[in-house]
Amino acid sequence: MDPTADTVAVLEAQLREAVERYLPDQDTRAIWRALEFARTAHADQRRLSGEPYLTHCLSVAVILTDLLRRGADPVILEAALLHDVIEENKSVTRERLRREFGEEVALLVDGVTKIGGVPFRNPEAVQSENFRKMLLSMAKDIRVILIKLADRLHNMRTIAAHREEKRRRIAQETHDIYAMLAHRLGIAHLKWELEDLSFKELDPESYRRVSELVATKRAEREEAIDRVQEPLADRLRTEEIKAEITGRPKSFYSIWQKMERTGGSLDGIHDLLGIRVITETREDCYRVLGVVHDLFLPMQDRFKDYVASPKSNMYQSLHTTVIGPQARRVEIQIRTRQMHLVAEYGIAAHYQYKAGGRVENELERKLGEFLVRGTTEWQAEAENPREFMDLLRVALYQDEVFVFTPRGELKQLPRGATPIDFAYAVHTAVGSHCVGARVNGRLVRLGYELKSGDIVEILTSPSAVPR
Ligand code: MN
Repeated sequence: MDPTADTVAVLEAQLREAVERYLPDQDTRAIWRALEFARTAHADQRRLSGEPYLTHCLSVAVILTDLLRRGADPVILEAALLHDVIEENKSVTRERLRREFGEEVALLVDGVTKIGGVPFRNPEAVQSENFRKMLLSMAKDIRVILIKLADRLHNMRTIAAHREEKRRRIAQETHDIYAMLAHRLGIAHLKWELEDLSFKELDPESYRRVSELVATKRAEREEAIDRVQEPLADRLRTEEIKAEITGRPKSFYSIWQKMERTGGSLDGIHDLLGIRVITETREDCYRVLGVVHDLFLPMQDRFKDYVASPKSNMYQSLHTTVIGPQARRVEIQIRTRQMHLVAEYGIAAHYQYKAGGRVENELERKLGEFLVRGTTEWQAEAENPREFMDLLRVALYQDEVFVFTPRGELKQLPRGATPIDFAYAVHTAVGSHCVGARVNGRLVRLGYELKSGDIVEILTSPSAVPR
């Protein structure tokens, strides 16, 4: 038997199990139709690794069920399975997907395909906030971004098959754009994995150093954590505070960043030590903090209260660093179970809540504030996922378009903007001498409505007169 056929079967079983677990009462027949459609569309195609192409489609769907759990809907899973069929099979069109799977699925697949076609050649533009806004505005639906993130994660996990130069380019893009997007959406564990996988490609030597360091210090680290964890657990029991204490893994990349900040040295193991306490309520967080500071000496200036003032991506926790036994510094994070869910899953946590029927108003509010940063009037109560989607669509910069100059600079313009608006945005002189425009290499009317991702070139003539 072909051993690679095995991989397909294993992934298929994983997806079926996840769908049964997380979507028990939903009509999931279209998911399996989408799987068969993808199987046919990619029939003769293989990944560079030699595996059947379908392993990629299945993996993206499985990653999404892990991420969204009960919040996964049939539509996003159908779109995940179908996300590459237009790109990889020229006989499949958006129209055909619309007929067979409906407008929503077609829109998601189309969005994923479009984002895949954005030019990433100017590193300066790529690192800008506008670039991420542009991706969000092109996506039209946040599920497009979630699929794209899952797609990128699987591509990074299987990147070894590419040649070095390509690996570096993909890793750089992953680091600059996708890890940042995951961060903006508050999906910490996706961000870390994307960062670590790109770190490994971009700086293999440092990656090896950090991973060896972490491995050699493992026993020492675990012992140090025990020495803080045990007395803390005892005290919390006495005080009757319900809490779960765990050692906290740190990403290789975050350890490396810390080493860089401290001049490359990592003399102690304190930078590797982290403890997390998960409690029930917000009040408990502060009670735990009191106990921690009573047991161990807190370090000045290392205390942060993100419970009272959450980060812009909704992250909430109390952070403190204390001097533990043997004068070792230990970082401690304290948060409720819900804060933990938001910290790990970010926007995806919202879907999990929705589906669980336990919509937290607080979370809803934060999410709204986060997405429409700058405006605080966002008060609408999204009662169902559909309404929530509509709200998100508005928040995803639908009133703006983001276009490139020929040099790859990014300009933000209001929706409906034309090449003339673009010309004036570049420079008044360009605007007043504008005689024509090329968009994506083609001549267009000056009244052409610009779309996000367009590359706009203005043709000027010194004799042109401002109108
Ligand atoms: Mn893909």
